[in-house]
Amino acid sequence: MNFSDLSIKEIHNGLKSKKFSCRELTDFYLSKIEEWNPKINAYLWIFFDQARYLAQEIDELIAQEKEIHLLSGIPCAIKDNIAIRGQKASAGSKILKNYIAPYDAFVIEKLKSKNSVILGKTNLDEFAVGSSGEHSAYGPTKNPLDHKLVPGGSSSGSAAAVSQKMCVFSLGSDTGGSVRQPASFCGVVGLKPTYGAVSRHGLIAMASSLDQIGPIAKTVEDAEIVFEAIRGQDKMDSTSFEKKEEDFEKKLQAEKFKIGIVKEGMGEGIDNEVLASFKKTIENIRKEGVSLEEISLPHLHYGLACYYILMTAEVSSNLARYDGIKYGQSKKDAKNLLDIYFETRKEFFGPEVKRRIMLGTYCLSSGYYESYYLKAQRTRTKIVEDFKSAFKKVDLLLMPTSSTLPFRLGERIDNPLSMYLADLLTVPVNLSGLPAISIPFKDKKKFPIGIQLIAPAFGEKKIFEFGKFFEKICQSKTT
Ligand code: GLN
Repeated sequence: MNFSDLSIKEIHNGLKSKKFSCRELTDFYLSKIEEWNPKINAYLWIFFDQARYLAQEIDELIAQEKEIHLLSGIPCAIKDNIAIRGQKASAGSKILKNYIAPYDAFVIEKLKSKNSVILGKTNLDEFAVGSSGEHSAYGPTKNPLDHKLVPGGSSSGSAAAVSQKMCVFSLGSDTGGSVRQPASFCGVVGLKPTYGAVSRHGLIAMASSLDQIGPIAKTVEDAEIVFEAIRGQDKMDSTSFEKKEEDFEKKLQAEKFKIGIVKEGMGEGIDNEVLASFKKTIENIRKEGVSLEEISLPHLHYGLACYYILMTAEVSSNLARYDGIKYGQSKKDAKNLLDIYFETRKEFFGPEVKRRIMLGTYCLSSGYYESYYLKAQRTRTKIVEDFKSAFKKVDLLLMPTSSTLPFRLGERIDNPLSMYLADLLTVPVNLSGLPAISIPFKDKKKFPIGIQLIAPAFGEKKIFEFGKFFEKICQSKTT
């Protein structure tokens, strides 16, 4: 049986009605991994035995007619910067080669409690810094839609694995776009939840005021199911926050939503092809009778500069803990303690990570702190205010996820600035702590582009509601 295109609900119903077993399902996905991973390098570590063992246990539960959760038995993949007890957590870095996580991340506890079948851990840009997957110390991931292209990053393996049907869903992390941008490049759905909606406990920190874990899936409905399963307050993350169900806005009819089209999302720096497809989606939505309004976010374009100051400052602080003593590898033959620190970091950090640490340390250093860090914090507030006033007028904002189509492997690796430009439209959302989803728009014969829907804080329900409607429009108009 071919399980590739089944949704989570379809698989759940198939398992419950014993149309197929969890073992069959798991074996199918493991064979997909065996077939495709040598070609696209999406997974770093694969849990063949554990996955099969758990699948059999789930089959026993089903045989005993026990109640199972929607995610029970669903094969999934986890970005390798999220801790799974007893498994490697390399964060795509040589410095954490062979590091074994001693505990489960909050999101993993949640998935395990639902009996999801974790197939393995996926490739990423080292410590999640990157937009192409090429900064992994374990080799780049390739875009399943065209192997000459990058899959986006940093959750490169998580997006590629879903796109290549090597799992049903995956988890990634999004600090400046790392769930949405690779989802957009690989033609799948990616959600960055509201800051605080999902606990960061057990996520290897990149920039703590921006990091969020989010699902990557084939459909909006699948992403919603996973989000509902992993969200919630956690005493181990004091920034996590539980919004009670009744606090969520009452479900509205998607057709009645007021949608804001972000003016700056159609202006300077956006590729023509992206723009053409984006305009087409707007037309399709308009034809459905949805009310659309152009909205300006005047400080949006400062987002990139602001992000690359605040993020590098936080990266430089967070990565200070990798000193060759506490975690992972240590440089052998070091002469003294200082030497261990210096030599370990010199040898085992990659060039992009070093670049960010240097930039961040510079921005925080005395004399420069006021002119960079403080100024960037003030700019962040301006961006937050832009979004706030926009949401007084509309329910959701719409713009492309990425300003470019996927570029060729190697094309931007030596030009960090052009690589950073890929984050133009995703980072303002992280700076503002808002939820956003990337949904693929597949125009005939053209490369899919991701459309980004942004909601007010804790407005995920709105995103799912309109997202499903939008998905339907896209499908009916493009097939
Ligand atoms: N591409 C962005 C960066 O390199 C985003 C990274 C992320 O979201 N983890 O900083």
